[in-house]
Amino acid sequence: MEQGKWIDGKVLAKEIKGELAKEVAVLAEETGERPGLAVILVGNDPASETYVRGKVRDCEEVGIRSQLIRKPDTIEEDELLSEVQRLNEDPAIHGILVQLPLPDQINPDRVISEIRPDKDVDGFHPLNAGRLATGLDSLLPCTPHGILQMLKRSGVSIAGKHAVVVGRSNIVGKPVSLLLQRENATVTMCHSRTEDLAHHTRQADILVAAVGRLHMITRQHVREGAVVIDVGMNRTPEGKLAGDVDFDAVEPIASRITPVPGGVGPMTRAMLLYNTVKAARTFFTKG
Ligand code: NDP
Repeated sequence: MEQGKWIDGKVLAKEIKGELAKEVAVLAEETGERPGLAVILVGNDPASETYVRGKVRDCEEVGIRSQLIRKPDTIEEDELLSEVQRLNEDPAIHGILVQLPLPDQINPDRVISEIRPDKDVDGFHPLNAGRLATGLDSLLPCTPHGILQMLKRSGVSIAGKHAVVVGRSNIVGKPVSLLLQRENATVTMCHSRTEDLAHHTRQADILVAAVGRLHMITRQHVREGAVVIDVGMNRTPEGKLAGDVDFDAVEPIASRITPVPGGVGPMTRAMLLYNTVKAARTFFTKG
């Protein structure tokens, strides 16, 4: 294995957190206040608990104030919407995140749409999605933005390259395709109905796998010298975290590749902090 070709998400996320800690200190000096993030956790799904704990710890690292609001999984939609409205009005809260998934009685689209777009640090609100699609400044969804930062910060050139994105979800595949297109890549989007997937992926200079199927991208899907970004988070039969890319088979022919764990995941977390600081800066600037 050639670790020099790995794009190390942990190292890059640390670099970004260092930059954000400095910015938080400057904001605190200028305004006497710190950015504030509210995280709403409904129920006690173990994976969500772990994610939320990680987010709270990340905030502490860079000096963001975080507030964890726990609600029982029996909560009614109206009550959750009222909580969001309360946070929308709270001047000490600059970012609001509702941890997904939500229990069946709650429509996640309604909840996300209730968050003030300028506090929508997940970047999932339809207004932010629309701003991204039309090329306007917005709070970007964290995983796609993290991928873009990984490419830029590791010196991968994007303009003019052929990027192939496998997966077209609203939180990863679609927005990362838009961001890559904004950076002047030529983008192909693949999905579950794509015929002859390998034919498309083999043409990629930059291949992004965002499906959620263990090791589905094999050596035959990858062109020699491609940059491979693995978003997938899957469990192996032994219970280990692993990506959509068969890392051992693909790593020898890729020019750059992201590991799982330690690739896109830490970048996603860093970009949530980035959005919170950005939202706070906008709030303070508006006065
Ligand atoms: P979704 O399930 O919402 O979307 C999966 C996409 O993959 C869909 O567009 C689907 O196509 C497509 N797909 C399914 N099967 C195939 C196939 N055989 N060939 C080609 N495309 C296929 O998942 P998410 O986008 O939310 O997440 C994708 C993965 O990324 C998951 O493993 C998730 O855990 C991980 N993830 C990781 C993050 C991180 O920080 N590292 C953050 C977010 C997600 P169709 O639209 O036709 O159904």
